[in-house]
Amino acid sequence: MTFTQIHKEYDWNEVKNFIHSRTAADVAAVMNKDTLTETDFAVLLSPAAEAFLEPMAREASRITLQRFGKTIKIYAPIYTSNECTNSCVYCGFNKHNEIPRVTLTDEEILADAKTIADMGIQHLLLVTGESPKVVSVSDLARTCDMLRDMFSSLSIEVFPMSTEEYAALRSSGADGLTIYQETYNRETYARVHPAGKKRDFDWRLETPDRGADAGYRTVGIGALMGLEDFRTEEFFVGIHARYLMKQYWKTHVTVSFPRIRFAAGNFTPYEIIKDKNLVQSMLALRLFLHDAGLVISTREPAEMREHLLPLGVTQMSAGSKTEPGGYNKEHEGKQFKVEDDRTVDEFCSMLRSKGYDPVMKDWDKNFLVRS
Ligand code: SF4
Repeated sequence: MTFTQIHKEYDWNEVKNFIHSRTAADVAAVMNKDTLTETDFAVLLSPAAEAFLEPMAREASRITLQRFGKTIKIYAPIYTSNECTNSCVYCGFNKHNEIPRVTLTDEEILADAKTIADMGIQHLLLVTGESPKVVSVSDLARTCDMLRDMFSSLSIEVFPMSTEEYAALRSSGADGLTIYQETYNRETYARVHPAGKKRDFDWRLETPDRGADAGYRTVGIGALMGLEDFRTEEFFVGIHARYLMKQYWKTHVTVSFPRIRFAAGNFTPYEIIKDKNLVQSMLALRLFLHDAGLVISTREPAEMREHLLPLGVTQMSAGSKTEPGGYNKEHEGKQFKVEDDRTVDEFCSMLRSKGYDPVMKDWDKNFLVRS
């Protein structure tokens, strides 16, 4: 059964009403369990569970320590183009926004990549807007071929592709895929994606399957927090992650918690995601899925990232720039504003001072079986 079929079995409003009507007694009953059902997970996302954040944090911390130790995998994104044919109303790269449009040449990509590698980064996330005519699958393959020897791991966060196209990029050295559904509410999805290829909800929903089918060793999913009721949204993220973990046992599944940040276009979110909302989402996810990787990027301020450290996070970006060419020259074409602007060295020193090991390399391309 595909996740599209599973998703269709749920009524958004029923899930939302269930979550919002839980009581403290419901939450207390879940807190005594070792293994959580999806109903238990929904209970932990409820407003009633906000009174239980401290015991939830203790348990999330215990599980994370047991499964991952005190380690944080470090990565950085490289944006190679901010051209986009889509009109996502919340995104600075939306084709209607008047920002400087930049697509890097191979030489410029290499220059940014070298700067990133010189910072000690070994896990690279290759990001573009969605404009296959400007940056095609073969362009991406060429970029991966060019960068594969500079980094131990290459992940991609680009337009959704077919399994065959993902396999082609895998042959060029890509081993990880990140793809956010943005929102799991079909109506909201249609509203915030008014035009462009991204309007196809089901094609996007099944993208992680195609990546896992193509043999990617990591697949990252998430919802853009602020487009919908975050509690219901995170419920769908959780059951999607669980589906992927069961379906593709060879693939490590990660979940991100991106909150909408200021971007060109001045989009007003459905709701402001408070720090405690983010914390609750992460804790509930960790208690539900003990082995999922949990990712926090530089969208979050330094203080918040440090606060989240013991609560279940396993991966963080550092030293990030969110505009093409930004590692060598700042300009106005950012996707969103970075909040934690510490250098990689500063960030890793902070981690060590708190007893954490920054993991600069957890994979070697020689492990990748070329297809
Ligand atoms: S979210 Fe992605 S697809 Fe949508 S406008 Fe931004 S870059 Fe383009």
